[in-house]
Amino acid sequence: MKISEKQLEQIDRQVKRLITAENFYGKKLKEAGITEVKKEEDFLKLPFSQKQDLRDAYPLGLMAVPEEEVVRIHSSSGTTGTPVIIPYTAKDVDDWGEMFKRCYEYAGITNKDRIHITPGYGLWTAGIGFQNGCEKLGAMAIPMGPGNTDKQLQMMMDMQSTVLCATSSYALLIAEEIEKRGIKDKIHLKKGVIGSERWGEKMRNRIKNELGIELYDIYGLTEIYGPGIGINCKYDTGMHIWDDYLYLEIINPETGENVPDGEWGEIVISTLVKEGAPLIRYRTHDISRIIPGECPCGSCHPRIDVIAGRSDDMMKIKGVNVFPKQIEEVLATFPELSSEYQIHISHLDGRDTMRIYVETDGTVDFQDMAKKVAEKVKSKIGFTPIVKVVELGVLPRSEKKSKRVFDERYN
Ligand code: ZN
Repeated sequence: MKISEKQLEQIDRQVKRLITAENFYGKKLKEAGITEVKKEEDFLKLPFSQKQDLRDAYPLGLMAVPEEEVVRIHSSSGTTGTPVIIPYTAKDVDDWGEMFKRCYEYAGITNKDRIHITPGYGLWTAGIGFQNGCEKLGAMAIPMGPGNTDKQLQMMMDMQSTVLCATSSYALLIAEEIEKRGIKDKIHLKKGVIGSERWGEKMRNRIKNELGIELYDIYGLTEIYGPGIGINCKYDTGMHIWDDYLYLEIINPETGENVPDGEWGEIVISTLVKEGAPLIRYRTHDISRIIPGECPCGSCHPRIDVIAGRSDDMMKIKGVNVFPKQIEEVLATFPELSSEYQIHISHLDGRDTMRIYVETDGTVDFQDMAKKVAEKVKSKIGFTPIVKVVELGVLPRSEKKSKRVFDERYN
């Protein structure tokens, strides 16, 4: 997606502001000899920024305004190492709210809706982001936060919540509880706004069907405002991204070069109007692609595909870049297969090979099934894997996230 003149001007302003502010990034840009961004080439020469840079700037090294202008900070979950602190000005909080409001509007949610918010409130950007957008929209927020399923369901019934905001795993848990307790006729949910963690089509369909609701995927990350920077519309042809606030690139994670629209790669985001902590060419490590063409809804905001994983998950098989999600999608088109599978990549006789293990029951011819799966992978992704079909229940089950991809090339 080509950067527009307006976006270039906005980036130029952000870069100059960072340099003047002499914050962590301003110093980096200055050291790289950058003074302005006039052309696309200038933009493409700007260095990428990384999560590690943000950690190095801990606690307030990213702050690009005088402290009296900062009204709030948020922090990303520091499960590994130092957390990241992002300062927000009043305008940043307002802009984020406007983007989130637009997300709700794209999902057809109005000020007559009652929005049940289950993501957590606190240092992170989840609950408070959903809340901010809801208040801007003028809808009724029911700020539950996570956990306490009894109370969740009671409030959901009593308040007649019409919209559920949740992670996919929590939405599934709620759907199952409603089913188990036989209270579906007391639930008024019409729509679900689901955080954009990676989730399979099968899980999505279960939530959709058990709750009988429309689902919308919302995208975002703490480093760039938080959730609410993009969402799919009712045509469900990918997530529209708010390109008046952000410029999004898709790069080849190995070379750092932009890939053509339609090709998969890593999402890189630059903020266009952020004040508290502008980020330029921030590598998200999320894998997606720009969806070429126009959406039937007529929106001018560009679209990206659902997040297919992390760039760390990328595999290169016979010269083709592959993400587990692509294989998962192909497998999901076979109703005969269970939801369990394993992908093994090894290096044999000088080339990469992929073996895929899938499960099915005795009503299916295993050899025939293997052939069908291999052919479909070849036609969709461009190489032929070795497919092994096994009996239902043979692949290991896990309570937590199952390990499904085994890269044996470097063992
Ligand atoms: Zn659309």
